[in-house]
Amino acid sequence: VIREAASEMGNQVYLVGGFVRDLLMNMPNNDLDIVVEGNGIELGRILSKKLTCDKLVLHASFGTASLIFCNGTHLDIASTRREDYDFPGALPVVEESTLREDLLRRDFTINAMALCLNEDSFGDIIDYYGGFRDLQQKEIRFLHNLSFIDDPTRMLRAIKFAVRYEFKLAKVTADAMPIALKEDVFAKISAERFTEELILIYKEAKFQRMGRELIRNGIFKAWFKADYAWNFEEAESVGEQRSLTERWLISLKNLDSNEISAVLDRLTLPKSLKRITLEYLRLKQALKLEDLTDLKNLDELLAGVPLLLFNILGSDDAYTDPLKKYRLLREGIQMKTTGKDLRQSGVREGPEIGSILKQIRLAWLEGKIRTPDEEKRYLEI
Ligand code: ATP
Repeated sequence: VIREAASEMGNQVYLVGGFVRDLLMNMPNNDLDIVVEGNGIELGRILSKKLTCDKLVLHASFGTASLIFCNGTHLDIASTRREDYDFPGALPVVEESTLREDLLRRDFTINAMALCLNEDSFGDIIDYYGGFRDLQQKEIRFLHNLSFIDDPTRMLRAIKFAVRYEFKLAKVTADAMPIALKEDVFAKISAERFTEELILIYKEAKFQRMGRELIRNGIFKAWFKADYAWNFEEAESVGEQRSLTERWLISLKNLDSNEISAVLDRLTLPKSLKRITLEYLRLKQALKLEDLTDLKNLDELLAGVPLLLFNILGSDDAYTDPLKKYRLLREGIQMKTTGKDLRQSGVREGPEIGSILKQIRLAWLEGKIRTPDEEKRYLEI
């Protein structure tokens, strides 16, 4: 379909970037990046008519279009263009330019190959910068020596790709990292851009190894301006099964409350992730002050806490036993009495109802009630 659209427009059209890389490695990829030597918006419009897509997003000022399909496939279209950076980390200024230059502004050689989609040269690979050689040699290599200075988030991407594919960093690329970090390149990067790349790493199956590499290469230290005890030590098979939220909170497990607050200040986490991190922080602080054998206080603190947070708090050695015990007791509660029952049996509407319900719940927790029958008798008394 793209081939047809390209010949209708009379422009050269290429697949580029990660899709080509993964195709050559025989790996699945649902994100198609297309570059057209012409008008990206027009190609977007033509394709959205030919392929029934669920959403078409056009960015006129960037000359780009995105088609999103219900099966999760994304198709992004860009015009060949050149980007200049006014200062490191700034948003690029876009100009019409050639494919060669378009590929040159990419991060690594393995991501800078193109595959022709036009009729006469369909399937030809264009590889100006040795991407195929680096795929074979299993190396992540940037395209020019100032690459990490132009865009320091590429250091996170280098680690992500190296670990994901079990590649090495090419020597020039590895050597450039400490030099860039020494120059304090992160100073000009927005928290949004850093956070975005960091979250992408937490979504990777091998995120723990990537995390350890971020530490080893001094990237966390450079960004957070402190050497925190990040935790990326769970067994890989366990970590892989975890949700993004669990992965994130577990990585913070060994940080104290002030450190977690400082981390939050330095990132722009998605709202839900930030909210649950703050809740985790609040509970971590509160539990420290609490008498962990006092079931009443513990229940007040933890009654409404989502199971996920509960499990993570429980993984802290100091809280493991009391929380396990509390959780078992809580799971044993088969409380039947409701506010309505109390009203029907003549208790006045008001705070008394809530306080009786709490008392029954506590009696369950303390083992004074063990069955619904015992609950009935307890109420009669
Ligand atoms: P993934 O499999 O992780 O999605 P991808 O290569 O498709 O990998 P994207 O983040 O979707 O990664 O980026 C698409 C393409 O855009 C990359 O292949 C690369 O060519 C280019 N790119 C992305 N980020 C940068 C960057 N920071 N600097 C230069 N080029 C980049």
